[in-house]
Amino acid sequence: MSEAQEIAMGQEADPQIIAQYGLYADSSLQQFINDKGQAMARISHRPNIAYHFRILDSDVLNAFAVPGGYVYFTRGIMAYLNNEAQFAGVLGHEIGHIAARHTVQQQRNAMLGQLGIIAGVIINPDLARFAESASQGLSLLFLKFGRDAEKQSDELGVEYSSKIHYDAHQMADFFLTLQRQSGNNENQLPEFLSTHPDPGNRYVTVNELATKYQKDHHSTGMLVNRDSYLNRINGIIYGEDPKGGYMEGGVFYHPEIKFQLTPPQGWLYNNSPQQVQFAPKDGSALYFLTSAQGNTPQEAASKFAEQNKLKIEQTATKNINGVPAYAIVASQAQQAQDGSTQVTVRALLYFLEYNKQMFMIAGLSAPAQFNAYAPIFQAATESFKQLTDTKKINKKPERVRIKKLTKDMTLDQAFNNYKVAASRKEEFSILNGMNLTDKLKAGTLIKVVEY
Ligand SMILES: [Zn+2]
Repeated sequence: MSEAQEIAMGQEADPQIIAQYGLYADSSLQQFINDKGQAMARISHRPNIAYHFRILDSDVLNAFAVPGGYVYFTRGIMAYLNNEAQFAGVLGHEIGHIAARHTVQQQRNAMLGQLGIIAGVIINPDLARFAESASQGLSLLFLKFGRDAEKQSDELGVEYSSKIHYDAHQMADFFLTLQRQSGNNENQLPEFLSTHPDPGNRYVTVNELATKYQKDHHSTGMLVNRDSYLNRINGIIYGEDPKGGYMEGGVFYHPEIKFQLTPPQGWLYNNSPQQVQFAPKDGSALYFLTSAQGNTPQEAASKFAEQNKLKIEQTATKNINGVPAYAIVASQAQQAQDGSTQVTVRALLYFLEYNKQMFMIAGLSAPAQFNAYAPIFQAATESFKQLTDTKKINKKPERVRIKKLTKDMTLDQAFNNYKVAASRKEEFSILNGMNLTDKLKAGTLIKVVEY
């Protein structure tokens, strides 16, 4: 790939990534990642191209790079990092991919997992493809670097973060946090862990590299900057932000678009700005809501059917709790290897016009199971209605709050002081990169999660 092609690829991907996740609305944090990123890019092996650094509004714990100078951190990983040195280590790893011009491999399935639990659970690729084509812009996210590239990026992460004077041993420590947070589930691991078979080994290697760098360069006084980092992220949103939609008591509420919907009960759930998805645990069906194009529900239905080469089998004009809608049963066929065409997906699709916007609610499965699923899809979709409950509309997100201990105590005692629920102590000890039994000195800052 030429440098021009590489940069063009980044320029094409960037607006799609922003549309998919949104930017996290905190200008001082965006400024922080840009300042550190630009400083690091200048001392990297490739200082001559333009770099772009962004924090995405996603609670998924991840950071990734796109060729051509684009680096993304989620607010999820920002909340889990515990000092500037850890942040710099991850940043160095991602800049390393760009500086070393690592080539990306298209890894469709591996990245589907990163889009969320639903895509990960869908075993029928026809269903995943259908959901994907309904919400454009996901294909460029299916990028992955090879194992050798990951190993080299770890080395560069140590080198670059050390060069801007951070202690790279902290980067190794953060691998432990990631390992604990993902529960050692390979599919849940973020980009910079997923391609490595042995994160524990990586912890050892990065520690050794950090020690060697500091010895070879006679480095002293390497920075960790724990307190300044924690103060910077004080107030960051933790977990799902209800304004973009949330589940409560089996009902999905969307405070911004102001609707509610009762999806199939007990199904897995995944929400992003472009699509909200539900799927049964065996992955045999998919139910999702996304935006649609057209002046009327009927026009939106024809457009969608045409774009996705669907055969319309039935149609019905509907009124769902006062919302005009048009429903179709449709099938999608694929050419088999012997040249014959076979129906691979059947779908019940509703196109709704709500608050001057067009939406599609889709339920799909393999043809054999469709008749069993169709009534479940229908009941869910026809529960769509306007959201008027102000308590549901005004639900606030949880936020990380930084607290200063007034005397010596264990993390567990500190959590008790701040009335942390017992059921969430383990979760928040990982968030702090600590154990509950750790003895903390007066003046130590810790993270708790409050509204
Ligand atoms: Zn990587």
